[in-house]
Amino acid sequence: MIVVMRKEASQAEVEHMVERVQQLGLKPHVIVGVERTVIAAVGSESKELKESLESGPGVAEVLPILAPYKVASREVKSERTVVTAGSFSCGGKQIGVIAGPCSVESEKQILDTARAVKAAGATALRGGAFKPRTSPYSFQGMKEEGLKLLAKAREETGLAVVTEVLATEDVPMVAAYADVLQIGARNMQNYRLLEAVGREKQAVLLKRGPSATMEETLLAAEYILDAGNPNVMLCERGIRTFETHTRFTLPLASVPYLHAKTHLPVVVDPSHGTGHTYLVPQMAAASVAAGADGLILEVHPDPERASSDGYQSLNFEGFQKTMELCRRVAAALDREM
Ligand code: PEP
Ligand code: MN
Repeated sequence: MIVVMRKEASQAEVEHMVERVQQLGLKPHVIVGVERTVIAAVGSESKELKESLESGPGVAEVLPILAPYKVASREVKSERTVVTAGSFSCGGKQIGVIAGPCSVESEKQILDTARAVKAAGATALRGGAFKPRTSPYSFQGMKEEGLKLLAKAREETGLAVVTEVLATEDVPMVAAYADVLQIGARNMQNYRLLEAVGREKQAVLLKRGPSATMEETLLAAEYILDAGNPNVMLCERGIRTFETHTRFTLPLASVPYLHAKTHLPVVVDPSHGTGHTYLVPQMAAASVAAGADGLILEVHPDPERASSDGYQSLNFEGFQKTMELCRRVAAALDREM
């Protein structure tokens, strides 16, 4: 249920209602909006509980939450959530741009890339240190060594670091270096991992599973929110279909759909979504046109020699041109990047 407080409700009244929600066996999530505060009371709903809450001090109304995802729902919060992590911001007027290699490979590779993407306008640096590879014989990432190199790149350029955490036991280590914890597509329904990142203070970039529905994606986000971390971004990165001309099929209707259903920012990954470098610039621009709050793009100094995903990575010049194209679309929509 949503306990909507009156505009003039006092802090003491809000605190009182949070306690009441707990006493009634429901879990409270306080959402402070510009207009007013609401308390999402998550748990089983009944007429008696609703009436009991309605009679509380400072309460304007009590409404059911119809969506299966509660805290993620726009029913609970109509204002967009803005996620900020160091240099990176996403969900407001500014479109966040996360760029960098699929994998961290060497100090020179990550530092050169960080400098180049920053110069072209990226607001965060990506790079996988723990890589989820389809084959156990493929490059698995530099692990902690890679995290240290990302931290070094942040120190030099000021760019926030976005990197994947693959396993629950690695969360403390990755969180010690990262500004944004990426949950990969293959792990979208790893519920213990979602709970673990939900207990951290870092923002989370949650990628859609290649065969997950929108509702499953939003429920995965709900695990993170329910564990106490409000800084969640959703990422459309393409789904598996019968089509083979692209690596995945990138459904950009996800962007306006998610905006209608959730207050969380929506990021698009045209690199994994298409799987071909030559398709990335236009699909990045199309993502911005669809209303994306952020982009995550694979950029490599020498894509031909990349340890992973070179075939979908932009080189520095390609990234710069993609930024120029996207900026023109963003300006037409009164957004900045
Ligand atoms: C990645 O970002 O390099 C990655 C592995 O993405 P996904 O989880 O979307 O496949
Ligand atoms: Mn990749």
